[in-house]
Amino acid sequence: MRRLLSLKPQWSAIAFFPRFKSSTCVATVDIYFEKAAKLAAATPDILNQIKACNNLLKLQFPLKRSDGTVQLIEAYRAQHSHHRLPVKGGIRMAPNVEANETMALAALMTFKCALVDIPFGGAKGGIKVDPTKYCLLEKEAIVRRYTSELVKKSFIGPALDVPAPDYGTGPQEMAWIKDTYEQLRSDINGSACVTGKPLEEGGIHGRQEATGLGVFYCLREFFNSEDCVNSLGLNLGIKGKSFIIQGFGNVGRHTSTFVQEAGGRIIAIAELGGGLVDESGAGLDVGQVQRYQEQHGTISGFPRAKTVLETSSLLELPCDVLIPAALESQIHTGNAARIQAKLIVEAANGPVTPPAEKLLEEKGIIILPDLLLNAGGVTVSYFEWLKNLNHIHFGRMSRRMEEHGKKELLNVLEHQFGNGNRLSEEVRKVLTKGNTEADFVSSGLEETMLVTWEKVKNTAKQRGCNFRTAAYLIAIERIAACYKVNGIFP
Ligand code: GLU
Repeated sequence: MRRLLSLKPQWSAIAFFPRFKSSTCVATVDIYFEKAAKLAAATPDILNQIKACNNLLKLQFPLKRSDGTVQLIEAYRAQHSHHRLPVKGGIRMAPNVEANETMALAALMTFKCALVDIPFGGAKGGIKVDPTKYCLLEKEAIVRRYTSELVKKSFIGPALDVPAPDYGTGPQEMAWIKDTYEQLRSDINGSACVTGKPLEEGGIHGRQEATGLGVFYCLREFFNSEDCVNSLGLNLGIKGKSFIIQGFGNVGRHTSTFVQEAGGRIIAIAELGGGLVDESGAGLDVGQVQRYQEQHGTISGFPRAKTVLETSSLLELPCDVLIPAALESQIHTGNAARIQAKLIVEAANGPVTPPAEKLLEEKGIIILPDLLLNAGGVTVSYFEWLKNLNHIHFGRMSRRMEEHGKKELLNVLEHQFGNGNRLSEEVRKVLTKGNTEADFVSSGLEETMLVTWEKVKNTAKQRGCNFRTAAYLIAIERIAACYKVNGIFP
């Protein structure tokens, strides 16, 4: 597992993908929910309760800009479902943030957490700004004022509502949130009020890679399943398959890196302002593209590939797998008919609209849905939250616990097979591997993704539906059971 790479937010430096329609995501979540709700073992009144967004906080506060002018900032926090507490979900900074979309994304968080069986309700926050247009000090002022408003209104707290990074935010913003919270509140576990923090601020190893690694684990399982690959007319394994990635922010970059390490070929990367097409056939070198992006603030102009300025056409190139890893509603009725991928992997939230899904499925394209695919982020957020609440360092804990067992194992091996001689250092190293916090995180994430993938796959088969409906169905039935047993207050 790699260390945190940087404090970069989850967007690539240059621009934002336009959404097909700003309110499409609301309709998208509703339609997918309704489709699964029809199959769910739950009464209509419980389904209605699940569907509704419980709380929406709208904020408008002034920002003193560095040129002396004052600007009004609009921001939101939506809490979709409180069947489990705290509620959990990222905070995005983007120019098209609005109330309905924030509520829809909060609903997705509810279903995502239920699907991976993590004990959180769903939430989402949004600040309606283009962060590229503000200097660091202004951004800090925006984030701190936003956090202070959340504190005043009880919309943040380790047991209430725990934000995380999302589009346009990253570890730096989370550090400001934590610090502001701790300045205003004296809770003993203040650092558990937010996840996705830098390591030195109570973050956890592997949180930044988590979403991309989760995407990769599911992909790997899909390509290891005979039924799945046969249905697409492909052979087993990621090796040699061609991939197109949309979005080279945190999720896109890490997903591409893991795919490349497994032998997949990244043949195109679509980024607004300039995408890349690999003409060699061998696939782009993701590490080199990333270094170029860090130096130039864009992937456009990367010398060992062809730069394409009109990037939406890149999604339509022939490939085995298309991975939208940017924003919602990127595959819609306007381009679905031209998509040539065999498999679409939703690393972003809501990238395929329901009518587009219909068109894609008619063409035999399989979709691995966002609820499952990008759940790695919140899964590792859960580990971070537990770590903060317990004031422990996972590596230290497991090492102490495992050392004892491993010492005994070494003794037995040395006694039985080594005539009492010490085993070689190489063998000892292998036997004592797997103790660090990063190992704990990656194995916990892998197990979560694998168990959930199996459940989604089996549910789709048993209930005769696609993977998305299966994922929603599992989530809805879990939440319904909770609502039912909780009853209604008063
Ligand atoms: N923003 C991420 C998501 O949409 C992570 C949320 C979290 O960790 O709370 O899943």
